Amino acid sequence: MRKALLFFLKVGLLVAAAVWIARRPGTVQIEWQGWLIETSVGVLALGALMIAILAAVLYSLWRFLLGSPGAFGRYRQSARRERGYLALTQGMVAVAAGDREAARKFARKADVLLNEPPLTLLLSAQAAQLNGDEQAARKYFEAMLERPETEFLGLRGLLTQALKAGDGRRAAELAQRAQALQPKAQWPALTLLELEAKEGHWTDAEDALEKAVKAKAIPAAEAPRHRAALLAERARMAAALGRTEEALTLAQKAHDLNPGLIPAAALLATLRARTGNAKAARRAVENAWRIQPHADLADAWGEAGGEADSLARVKRFEALVALDPGSVEGHLALARAAIVAKLWGEAANHLRIARDMAPTARVHRLLAELSRAEHGDGAEAREWLAKVAGAAPDPAWTCARCGAEHALWSASCHRCGGFDTLSWGRGATLPATSAAPAIAPPAAAAAGTLAPALGTDIASR
Ligand SMILES: [Zn+2]
Repeated sequence: MRKALLFFLKVGLLVAAAVWIARRPGTVQIEWQGWLIETSVGVLALGALMIAILAAVLYSLWRFLLGSPGAFGRYRQSARRERGYLALTQGMVAVAAGDREAARKFARKADVLLNEPPLTLLLSAQAAQLNGDEQAARKYFEAMLERPETEFLGLRGLLTQALKAGDGRRAAELAQRAQALQPKAQWPALTLLELEAKEGHWTDAEDALEKAVKAKAIPAAEAPRHRAALLAERARMAAALGRTEEALTLAQKAHDLNPGLIPAAALLATLRARTGNAKAARRAVENAWRIQPHADLADAWGEAGGEADSLARVKRFEALVALDPGSVEGHLALARAAIVAKLWGEAANHLRIARDMAPTARVHRLLAELSRAEHGDGAEAREWLAKVAGAAPDPAWTCARCGAEHALWSASCHRCGGFDTLSWGRGATLPATSAAPAIAPPAAAAAGTLAPALGTDIASR
């Protein structure tokens, strides 16, 4: 509005000046260097105006030309950055799509165009990894360590490489460094916990667990269960080294934190029975049995009766069955005790019940064992044994993360290194035969030689 007013004012002034000059006619004479110019006042005024306008235009042009090198440079630079960012984006898309050639091309382009290492190092590292060049990727990750803004990312890249190479020591060092850098980050805490557990460094794993809980990488409600798992491992180690008192204290702590943890309860009961506290031993088994019956608990129960004869043992296992009559484990344990006591009828009765509940391999093996004990190595025993291969697989310690089955419980999965991922049961997708090593030989089981809950793990790898 103001501009328009100003424009009309200017036009008005010009018109007024023109009219003013036109009403006052006259001629002007200019004599210069032998030239004579004779014209009217109006034409002279118009000429002067034209010269003024031309001068203004020339002056603007000169100003533009003076300022242009900077402006042109700035334009070029911003276009270059734009192309750099585009290459960076395209490179990231290529990495996500797994397009090796494009990833490498765009990484190089972005690097040249942007010249900003914090932005392009990660892409270059990822592109190198995609192309299988771990050496180059490592160089980029190491370069990232030198800048505070990329150090954490570089550590993560190097850690992944160390894990892939199976270098647990270096991976742990890197995870510790990442944790010191960002104590609230979750992945360093979880990685450290898994690595320490995998190496069997149970005390270090306990520290790592507390840090992981603090970083909220593990919900506080799940912490007691994990603490119990680590205590059970420490107890098992102490027992294996003959440090019974220490093992007892640790197993008791684990059992108090998680009464359903079978290895802790079984070890506690076995140690209590061996140190003359049968009552405490039975109590530990009962606590765990009510949550989940298991053969290891039955074995510990067998030890918790003192020097009783085989008939008294059968009575004791009847009491165990009574705790949870719907569980196959109780019937199997009672059948084993009955075979030892030569109570064929009772053994057959409980094996039949067990077979109705879960016709798995070990039930058929025990049926063969019973037949062999009662009638000798005849056709019937061979018939039962022949059914073992086709029978449903037995439950095993199964990793919730990778599905691997383990003969013995461990706080660390032997296949994937997951921490506290094993639970008693069956993985749905695993081949039936993989559970085979989890079964105790029937002869040993029938003879009542009870495998203690402690010992080294044999993974069914
Ligand atoms: Zn696993």
